[in-house]
Amino acid sequence: MDKRDYYEILGVGRDADAEAIKRAYRKLAVKFHPDKNPGDKAAEDKFKEATEAYEVLKDPKKRQVYDQFGHTGLSGAGAAGTGGFGGFDINDALRTFMRDFGGGAFEDLFGGLGGGSRRGRSGPVAGADLRVRLKLTLEEIAAGVEKKIRIKRRVTCETCNGSGAKPGAGTTTCPQCRGAGEVRQVSRSVFGQFVNISTCPQCRGAGEIIETPCVTCHGDGRVDGTSTITVKVPPGVSEGNYITVRGAGHAGPRGGPSGDAQVLIEETPHEYLERHGDDLLYRLPLSFSQAALGDAVVVPTINGSVKLKIPSGTQSGKMFRLRGKGLPHLRGFGTGDQLVQAIVWTPTELSREEKELLERFSTLNGGQPPKADKSFFDKLRSTFGG
Ligand code: ZN
Repeated sequence: MDKRDYYEILGVGRDADAEAIKRAYRKLAVKFHPDKNPGDKAAEDKFKEATEAYEVLKDPKKRQVYDQFGHTGLSGAGAAGTGGFGGFDINDALRTFMRDFGGGAFEDLFGGLGGGSRRGRSGPVAGADLRVRLKLTLEEIAAGVEKKIRIKRRVTCETCNGSGAKPGAGTTTCPQCRGAGEVRQVSRSVFGQFVNISTCPQCRGAGEIIETPCVTCHGDGRVDGTSTITVKVPPGVSEGNYITVRGAGHAGPRGGPSGDAQVLIEETPHEYLERHGDDLLYRLPLSFSQAALGDAVVVPTINGSVKLKIPSGTQSGKMFRLRGKGLPHLRGFGTGDQLVQAIVWTPTELSREEKELLERFSTLNGGQPPKADKSFFDKLRSTFGG
């Protein structure tokens, strides 16, 4: 069994802190979550693999063992007290994800678990939940947006008004459950007697059956249809969040209440802004002379553009921070920042005159980096580290 390196799986460096590990894992887990990739075995394996890596790297003890001894340190007998990872299956992985990232499989923005099975012990059965995806641009995420989505769902049959009975026809008490809507099954085993109560299969919990079914819906009380739902998206959402719209799922059979619609947020990548949590990154190309002499430039942000002063002697990689120009924090006050990274652009085509000037510049020993000793590399590191 050849296992991949845990840091490589999560795509983080060996010095990544707990927050970075959590962030990297969350991103992968949302992408490969089985709910989002039904029936996709490769995605499931990726989800499992990422969760396993996360379980080890988030635990300082396990991480230390892993750093020192690698995979063998965690699996063998020598790893007393660290817990092995022999039988890590998909259910363990799903549990881990749910434990660390909120109630539902995905984060429900408005609280509460998505599941729409609000059915009583008997009585009408609720309709199933449905899941829809909603693609949003970064601009929409920054401002918050109200969206109308057309969805295909089971809707109440208009002919019978959801009763499932032919108009005018009557109903009789269900012979199987005698009107109770549920059936009891008694089973015996060496441990004693068990009573199992379940919804009556004949009347599906209604307690009565239709004498003549409705011709439109064949007694189900529902037909295929479409509805338009309105989703209010608060500012600052991210990919993998979902919003539950109560009662917008499938109608229940024979007049049962509707399930919920779970709207899963997807983010369309922005043309030039890169999202990092609530911060946005813009890479600013500068010419060599702008970087060397300094300049005032105009930088685009998520809402309008701003002026930015580039000091003389700016190195490629240098980060500037525009406070409050990022995305609003979800469910909180404040806003992230926009980071601007200077990228010095080396010209690939030069006119004759430009070439002559640069050759003259170079004979003056212009633009030479200082002697490459330790202090020089320390300086470079601090520039690139932002
Ligand atoms: Zn009908």
